[in-house]
Amino acid sequence: MNIANNTFKTLKDLDKAHYLHPFTDLQEHKQKGGDIFSRAEHIYIYNSEGKQLLDGMSGLWCSNLGYSQPTINKAITQQLEVLPYYNSFFQCTHQLAVDMAKSLVEVTPPQFNKVFFTNSGSEANDTNIRLVHRYYNLLEKPNKKQIISRKNAYHGSTVAAGSLGGFNGMHEQYTGVNYVHHIAEPNWFGYDGELDRDAFGKHVAQELAAKIDELGEENVAAFIAEPIQGAAGVIVPPETYWPEISKICKERDILLILDEVICGFGRTGNWFAAETYNIEPDLLTFAKGVTNGYQPLGGVMVSDKVADVITCNEGEFTHGFTYSGHPLACAAGIATLDILKNEQVIEKGAADIMPYFQARLRSLEDHPIVGEVRGVGMLAALELVKNKSSKERLAPDCEGGAICKMHAIEHGLMVRSVGDAIVTAPPLICSREEIDLLITRLTIALDYTAKHYGIKS
Ligand code: PMP
Repeated sequence: MNIANNTFKTLKDLDKAHYLHPFTDLQEHKQKGGDIFSRAEHIYIYNSEGKQLLDGMSGLWCSNLGYSQPTINKAITQQLEVLPYYNSFFQCTHQLAVDMAKSLVEVTPPQFNKVFFTNSGSEANDTNIRLVHRYYNLLEKPNKKQIISRKNAYHGSTVAAGSLGGFNGMHEQYTGVNYVHHIAEPNWFGYDGELDRDAFGKHVAQELAAKIDELGEENVAAFIAEPIQGAAGVIVPPETYWPEISKICKERDILLILDEVICGFGRTGNWFAAETYNIEPDLLTFAKGVTNGYQPLGGVMVSDKVADVITCNEGEFTHGFTYSGHPLACAAGIATLDILKNEQVIEKGAADIMPYFQARLRSLEDHPIVGEVRGVGMLAALELVKNKSSKERLAPDCEGGAICKMHAIEHGLMVRSVGDAIVTAPPLICSREEIDLLITRLTIALDYTAKHYGIKS
């Protein structure tokens, strides 16, 4: 269904006039306006001119089951009739928040038996700060307030979550909290030292130990990290990285917060990347895929170690949101987890479509402008270069990535460009034919990008 021309123009003008878009160049938007998307079906999104795009990003890494899941729709609409809203403050509760909590406990690693609900990943990471500070206050270690994170990490966009993140572009625009410290990320492609991949993984992990020593263990509360850094361009750590980080966290009295907002709910081939990398976090952040993007919901899984302290000391935990445990979000979440469980989406995906996706992407390693293909499960990135051995980029200022993304969209594929990397994280429910289509469209985009820079492909 196309939007009639006059309606389209009006909508575009109204959008330019009134809507401040997130993570958007607002001056450019004011001049050019935005891309209007009007409907979605299965793994395809349609713009207002009726153009179909294969959604190689699952929305914003969240619609893992695509856009046509009638049981999620039904769960939400049924709940609307029963209890459209009630809150969880002051010891109130309702059926769906309890059911959702129980469902999450069943699918997350065994140390997790409690959950705190938020509306988003950002709020969940803010909640993590509230939890770790409260935890150490109750243990009478009030100096333990410092948090270690990583450069180019993304943990959300509230004032505190943005501070946890390691993007200079965000830090430059506001003054964040002053107790977060950033160490290097395990970015093998960006490394040009002498070490091999495994030695590099250990070496970069050692920065955590060094930072704890520098700050003093008695002052450090937690280390927060994504298992694979998503927004940084799908930074897949060397195999040696997480064992070394885990060892350091176990040897020291600090909490490990694993941000699984992107990696959770099957993206890496297990329910959580904690299983993929054998990590034992004390707190686990989730959002996005928990409702398949159908409703805003996030939260923190709280391990017994932390819960035992915060639930065995008197005094209110003075934190929460009006919509914590919102019944409609929980309805969507329960239905999403039911589909993942009952249809064995993750197990089947790990056995077939994920290795197929990774193998098909690896076939692009020979393309003249692809410097590296990396990825795990249904998560991947391609680094674009002019020269494979020197890693010289196609053009300054990440122009190559932007050009390639433009060609991908032109040829019916939604991807994301992060610097000079092209990122793709398609729905877990893709068929082999749909992955073939994704690869065909991506290859066309790479060919056009190569042509743009006068490189023969
Ligand atoms: N953590 C990670 C790892 C994320 O990728 C994101 C969102 N992209 C967030 C937190 C923030 O989530 P939200 O946008 O729901 O606040």
